[in-house]
Amino acid sequence: MTQSVIALASRIVVKVGSSLVTNDGRGLDLARLARWAGQIAALVKQGKEVVLVSSGAIAEGMQRLGWSKRPVALSELQAAAAVGQMGLIEAYERCFRGHGLQTAQVLLTHADLADRERYLNARSALRTLLRLKVIPIINENDTVTTDEIKVGDNDTLAALVANLIEADALIILTDQPGLYSADPRRHPDAELVHEATAGDPKLEAMAGAAGSAIGTGGMLTKVLAAKRAARSGAHTVIASGREDRVLERLAQGEPIGSQLTARQATLAARQQWLADHLQVAGRLVLDAGAARVLAEQGKSLLPICVTEVIGEFQRGEVVGCIDRSGRDIARGLVNYSADETRRIIGKPSAEIAAILGYADEPELIHCDNLALL
Ligand code: GLU
Repeated sequence: MTQSVIALASRIVVKVGSSLVTNDGRGLDLARLARWAGQIAALVKQGKEVVLVSSGAIAEGMQRLGWSKRPVALSELQAAAAVGQMGLIEAYERCFRGHGLQTAQVLLTHADLADRERYLNARSALRTLLRLKVIPIINENDTVTTDEIKVGDNDTLAALVANLIEADALIILTDQPGLYSADPRRHPDAELVHEATAGDPKLEAMAGAAGSAIGTGGMLTKVLAAKRAARSGAHTVIASGREDRVLERLAQGEPIGSQLTARQATLAARQQWLADHLQVAGRLVLDAGAARVLAEQGKSLLPICVTEVIGEFQRGEVVGCIDRSGRDIARGLVNYSADETRRIIGKPSAEIAAILGYADEPELIHCDNLALL
């Protein structure tokens, strides 16, 4: 097998899951945190830039508050996250300081990344931290998130961060050795996938929906995170966080876990930001021909190609483009409001002025503002 892509990566996002960080919910595993910090320090010494995305705030908060069952009420989850995040950051700070490294806490929500200005701010802050050789420690800002604005799981958050800072690689450390050809808990003959192409639909079928009781994501969210990260060219490795010196060995080129390689053409920075919108204001259903034509780069979306408008949106908002079966095709900034769009769909652009009384643009979404998924 080929050597690990991590050997050549110079900017790496490392994600660690809740069950690893909190010893399956029993409380922060300080010894393990210290080992990762040591390995990350070794990578930094080799000249690599590392961002850590760590889960575990809610699990650690529950432990500190003496709660044995994960609360259902959003306000209690938010409270647990606020308590637990203190413990996480305190522990990481202590571990990294032992290696002479400064740390920085960065808490993000989907709303931060969906807003172009906040997105660019987050990007330059993170780049500055990396330049200063500080280790950014990122989590979702669980205390202020609601369903509407949350990313939801840290596998996805880590992929969004990889895209945000244009990382070369994403390492997802979990409590499994990697991705298996089937759920190993139910299929004893399941085999570890050593290498595959990120975004290959077969991987999603293999990953199924299996999750753990402690964290939010399962193997499927990891496979989807790899697909997402590949859009900016980042390769993903899913490996066991319990493996001895796993980060250092990966950096030496040892193939550990599952390597999901990015092979697709990467999107330009602006398209990347559009593609990473997890929540959209509305959706446009495309006819079969348009779905195909859009797939050819460089084409704009015209009103005549749209058969249905779902949801409400204003001019300039991000909308999703789907085909008739509901498959996501693209994301883009729409030139007309939902009401206006409903009146012009199915019509040639030359008729827009007559229908609306004015015509801003002949396209519903200009190709510069469109990202294919
Ligand atoms: N942000 C959550 C936490 O730190 C974890 C989300 C996840 O497990 O993916 O508790």
